[in-house]
Amino acid sequence: MRQLLLLRRSLITVRFSLYSTSSKAAISQDLPKNSMPTENVDIIVAGGGLVGSAMALAFASSPIFKNHKIVLLESQSKLPKVSKNQSYSNRVCALNTQSINLFEKLGAWDLMKSIRVQKVSRMQSCLLERLKQFNIEPRLNSRVKSFENEENSIRIKLQDEKINLRTGLLIAADGYQSSIREMARIPTMQWNYDQFGIVATLQLADNIPNNNVAWQRFLPTGPIACLPLSNTHSSLVWTVPKSMHKTLMNLSDEQFVDEVNKAFTSDVYKQNEIISITERLRSCWQQVIPVSSTLLQYPPVIINIQPKSRAAFPLSLLNSNQYVAPRLVLVGDSAHRIHPMAGQGVNMGFGDIVCLMNILEQAVRDGADFSSLTYLVDYERQRQLQCVARLLSIDSLNRLYSTKFSPIVALRSVGLSFVNEFSPLKKFFAKQAAYSS
Ligand SMILES: Cc1cc2nc3c(=O)[nH]c(=O)nc-3n(C[C@H](O)[C@H](O)[C@H](O)COP(=O)(O)OP(=O)(O)OC[C@H]3O[C@@H](n4cnc5c(N)ncnc54)[C@H](O)[C@@H]3O)c2cc1C
Repeated sequence: MRQLLLLRRSLITVRFSLYSTSSKAAISQDLPKNSMPTENVDIIVAGGGLVGSAMALAFASSPIFKNHKIVLLESQSKLPKVSKNQSYSNRVCALNTQSINLFEKLGAWDLMKSIRVQKVSRMQSCLLERLKQFNIEPRLNSRVKSFENEENSIRIKLQDEKINLRTGLLIAADGYQSSIREMARIPTMQWNYDQFGIVATLQLADNIPNNNVAWQRFLPTGPIACLPLSNTHSSLVWTVPKSMHKTLMNLSDEQFVDEVNKAFTSDVYKQNEIISITERLRSCWQQVIPVSSTLLQYPPVIINIQPKSRAAFPLSLLNSNQYVAPRLVLVGDSAHRIHPMAGQGVNMGFGDIVCLMNILEQAVRDGADFSSLTYLVDYERQRQLQCVARLLSIDSLNRLYSTKFSPIVALRSVGLSFVNEFSPLKKFFAKQAAYSS
């Protein structure tokens, strides 16, 4: 069946593989359907979020694509600018090793390191700053309204209807509610978690030099995590059931801080019988296996949250059934959305970029049309394998940690403590998290 699908796609590819402008900003007046001028470009990235900005930069900085015209469209009216002095926003993300390697290759890592790197909007601003060096500015207020496949290209209508665009390859990086995916009628597998992710910027009680430890505690209500930002601030991601999020969002800042401290340190959110079972089992295995020599550490005490930094996002899982269609590729959240408990979402999007660039660059080296479905399908195959496995494993972990069924809760608590204290296993899992995408 899969073979047949691939064959069908290869045949479609022949039909769609003749387009390449490789000219700079060609504008033609050739539209019989309406009087609007059409601008011809080689590659369009729609969506200037973290993944879309990095995608456009990957093309711009690639020696193989340097003579191609790349356009980055963003529907919003502004995007973040580089500055060291802005206060922290509530969205941060931890980068894994593959994402850092990508930024080094794109020449954006030094700039990210020179400012506070963890904050999402600042990472994005570094990517946009680097794009400027290749004379690419995102086109703001440019929402893709509709598109249609032509014989050898895709013609795009924008919301403002000032100009049409025609391209050989459209890359959708327009987030998990991707309208481009919908317009292409690509079905998805998705479900809501009935959970919300509450984020906030936390002010710490002490100035902690080298505040570089990320904390995560698994509670029956969902995991709570604290990612370091600076010596005085950390970022919160707290997964809570839908029924609980409104109560937490309606608390005053002082009351909310109390709840965060309680969730990190006290047992009010835990089940007492489980605590005693886990403790007894721990003392047993500590007599037979070498336990980690790491000193017991405690999470930082929170004294405040940055005003207006508290926000709640509904959580869901989504996987697009196809990541490609003729002359169309989905990357980032438009292709897959994962539970944030393992901080993998944007790293998976960067993994898409690494994979896609390897394949497209090889296509050009082979002298082929890089937007041919033969190559795009290879991207889909590789990424679906990686992403579906990751989505489902994090989904299972979330289910495991959402249950209140005591035997399961006891087993997972024991399992987690075991991993924490048995160094080789702990190192194995840390390595998996650092290198996966
Ligand atoms: C609470 C929470 C915590 C998270 N924490 C982490 C973490 O610690 N680590 C991690 O790796 N990930 C994390 N994630 C996931 C991460 O935020 C996402 O994976 C990532 O932001 C997706 O980036 P993106 O560029 O694909 O999409 P988006 O960030 O959604 O960007 C899409 C862009 O496209 C634009 N757009 C939309 N429609 C159009 C259109 N039609 N035409 C043109 N432009 C359009 C939008 O304006 C937007 O700028 C978290 C998510 C949540 C909800």
